[in-house]
This record gives sequence, C-alpha cells and structure tokens, in this order.
Amino acid sequence: MDSNGTSFLDKVLNLVKEDRSESVPLIRFKHPKELEAILDLDVTKGVSDKELEQCVRQVLQYSVKTHKATFRNQLFCGTDPYGLAGAWITEACNTSQYTFEVGPVFTLIELKLLNHILKLFGIPHGDGIFSPGGSISILYGLVAARYKKFPEIKAKGMRNLPEMVIFTSEDSHYSIKKAAHWLGFGTDSIRIIPTNAAGQILVHKLDEAIQVEKDLGRCPVFVNGMAGTTVLGAIDDLDAVADVCKKHGVWMHVDACWGGSLMLSPKYKTKLKGIERANSISWNPHKMAGAPLQCSVFLVRDKGLLHEANSAAAQYLFQEDKFYDVSYDTGDKSVQCGRKIDAFKLWMMWKARGDLGLSLLADQTMATAQFCLEAVAKRPGFKLVVNELQCPNVCFWYIPSFMRGQDMDGQWWEIMHKITPKIKELLTLSSQLMVSYSPVRQYKNFFRFAFTFHPTVDEDQVLRMLQSIEDCGETVTLDMVS
Ligand SMILES: *Cc1c(COP(=O)(O)O)cnc(C)c1O
Repeated sequence: MDSNGTSFLDKVLNLVKEDRSESVPLIRFKHPKELEAILDLDVTKGVSDKELEQCVRQVLQYSVKTHKATFRNQLFCGTDPYGLAGAWITEACNTSQYTFEVGPVFTLIELKLLNHILKLFGIPHGDGIFSPGGSISILYGLVAARYKKFPEIKAKGMRNLPEMVIFTSEDSHYSIKKAAHWLGFGTDSIRIIPTNAAGQILVHKLDEAIQVEKDLGRCPVFVNGMAGTTVLGAIDDLDAVADVCKKHGVWMHVDACWGGSLMLSPKYKTKLKGIERANSISWNPHKMAGAPLQCSVFLVRDKGLLHEANSAAAQYLFQEDKFYDVSYDTGDKSVQCGRKIDAFKLWMMWKARGDLGLSLLADQTMATAQFCLEAVAKRPGFKLVVNELQCPNVCFWYIPSFMRGQDMDGQWWEIMHKITPKIKELLTLSSQLMVSYSPVRQYKNFFRFAFTFHPTVDEDQVLRMLQSIEDCGETVTLDMVS
C-alpha cells in the first residue's frame, strides 16, 4: 500500500461502482455454512493489495444490493446519492461529534439542521440530537421523561420512587421493550394498548389504562404514540393522544422513526397532525428518506433538558476554561462519548435538494405506494390486509390458485401462514425479489411492501414485483407447506 492508501481506495471505489451496475443480481443467497466455505475470512496471515482486492470483490459479490428496486425487505432501501457522498466524506474526516474543536463545521451543521427539523416538526424552540438509531432515540425519550418527572433520579436511581408505567400500542416497535429493560423499568412496566384493525391505538383505551394506573397509585410516565408502525404503517390519532396526555399530565413521545419522513411533504404532513404537541419525537431519516445508515433524530420540546439529564461534565473533554465559546461543545447532551457525524449525510441531501426536492420525493413515494395498493386490490389472488394507505406500506397476501374458493377458516389461515414464507424463500433463492413478511395480531403471515425515496420505483417495476410473487406463488404446492 502507498503511504496514504489512496491508490487502494481508488480501486475500491471502482469496485463499488461496478457492483452497482444493472446486471448485478439482487442477491446470491448461500446458507451460512456454504458461504463460510466460499470465503477466505481468516486474518492470521496478511495478504497483498491484489489479493485483498479479490476479497473485496467476493464480499461485494455475496452482499445484498439494497439499492435495487427489488429490495423490499426492510424499511431502509437504497441511499440518496448525496447522502452517500456525505457519509464518505465524514468517514474520511474521521472525527467525532462532541466538541467544536474537533468538528467545527459538523457542529454548526448539526445545530443548523436540528433547528430546521425542529421547525418542520412544529417545535421550533426545542432541542435535539442525532443518535445511532431509533432504538437509542426511544432510550433518550424515556430518560428525558423520567428525569423531568424525578430529577433526583440522576444521582439516586430509582429507589424510593413510585412505580412508573409506560404506555404503547400493540403495534409499536419492540425497541420500547428493550429500553424498558435497559433503563430498569422492566418490561412488565409497559401497558400494551389495543389498536383498531388498521393498527391505530384505541385512544379511549389509552385514557382508561392511564386512569387505572393512577387509581392504583402508580405513576404514568410515558406515552408512546406511533407515526408509522413498522409493519402496517399505522399513524395514531396524535391529536387525540395529545389530549389524553394533557389530561393526565403524562409525557407524550411520538415514534415517527418510519412515518416522520412524511413531514417533509406539505401534502402528507397533515396525517401526523398533533405531533407538534409531543414532548419528544424520534425520526429515522435512514429509513424512508434514504439517508445512509445510521441517521436518527431525537427531538425534545424542553430546551436544556437533554443537557441537564445527560451531562456528566467530563473535565478532560468539556473543559469550561477553553479559549472559545464552549456552548458549542454539544456532546455532553449525548449518552455517547465519541459520536459519528450522522447529521452531515442528511445535510448533504437536504442542501442538494432543498425542502421542495425532498417533498417531491415523499409525494412520489406515496404515489407509488397508492398505485401498488390499487394494483393489489384489483389483482386476482391478492388480498390486502388494510385497504387504506397511511404510510407507504402495502400489506397483502398472495393466495395461490389451489387455495382459492375455500372457506377461510382457521385451518386455511394456518396454511396461508406457511405459504407466505415459502414464496419469500423462492423469490430470494431466484434473486427476483427480497420482500419482508410478518404476522400482526390476528393476521397470519403476509407480505409488506414499504416504499422509500430511493430508488424511485416506477409502475412497471411494481407490477413486475407483483408478477414475481404470483409466479413463485403458483409453484407452491400443499406438500411444500405441510
Ligand atoms: C425501525 C424502527 C425503530 C427502530 O429504529 P432503529 O434505527 O432500527 O433502531 C423504531 N420504531 C419504528 C416504528 C421503527 O420502524
């Protein structure tokens, strides 16, 4: 390798470019043991650059092309190319987002972008931070809510405090369970509130559940409203949730990890009306909007709270007697010490496209999802789980011919529960499509198409993907699933 490694980096960049060509398959699936046998992963003996280049080729060859339209497996998808450029730049700069002195430009960018986002979400006087994902953002939310209620917790811990209770909808993301465990509430402190068929929280049930806990002398500390559930894309009636939170004096968080990107569109942001009344919000630009992983924002209405709740005032890093304005050393708001520059990727995308450009991408994404929903509704053998679009999620079953015209009784649904994963397997092995499936509540395994800003998917591509599902679905037999 040359002294600063640039010629190797040039080679790698070219390999990445080649890997993005049209003819490269979505996936060359191998089972773990098969893959292990193909790859030379041992690091004991160093190799030459030439050999390493071969290794890189192999790594790329067997990696999933998440930038293809046929990658519908996750809520993230292809990256915004400007965002990817931003990620490369910050990786190359290799610095940390904690003090102004080591990240002067990135500090200003994070502050500027957070202010822009706070305005967009309707809490212009709030505060925020970029965090490594939605699961961490909800930890921030719980910590902020708990600290606000009982500031003594920071020094004394939970002993001597009343039992605290957390409320979330049945369809919410599992990260709240992990957070409840990590923060010492315990998962039993979560009250799961039922939803309607479309996955929206039943607000009157929430109201009742909070009252029950109060009557029992417990302390309701956190309500988690959803703006885009992970599977169905359900958006709660956030205004109604806010009314209940206000009535009971409980912290309102909105998990907008998925649906928050709709705030970028003047046309669709009305779906999230009421979010501006939240005490805290989490949004993952790395999902629908296509910022490179990871890029997650935590917002809080109460300015100063993040710092108060999280600061530890380390004297070796956040010295008070520095030669510049130390209010720009924003890192003590974070639970992390070193922190990646996640704001810059999003800033690059936003700078390139502006508010208008991002809103057009959101509108286009919703239009594609609407087209898909209507196509699924019309198509023989396909059956929608929810008939109306909330976020750009389209959830459906494919019912092979041999299953049609029968009673859809419990036994029939048990077979469907196995057919969906079988179709997925066939689609993956043939590299036609990677699509996610899930059961939700009473619904047996179904497919979820979730549309994202990147890559743009045209109507033909949507129809071709449905056709792939149908083609593979028709090769499934009863034997294969019994
Ligand atoms: C993905 C997701 C999360 C978790 O975000 P990560 O960045 O994957 O940790 C939280 N809430 C919802 C609704 C999600 O879809």
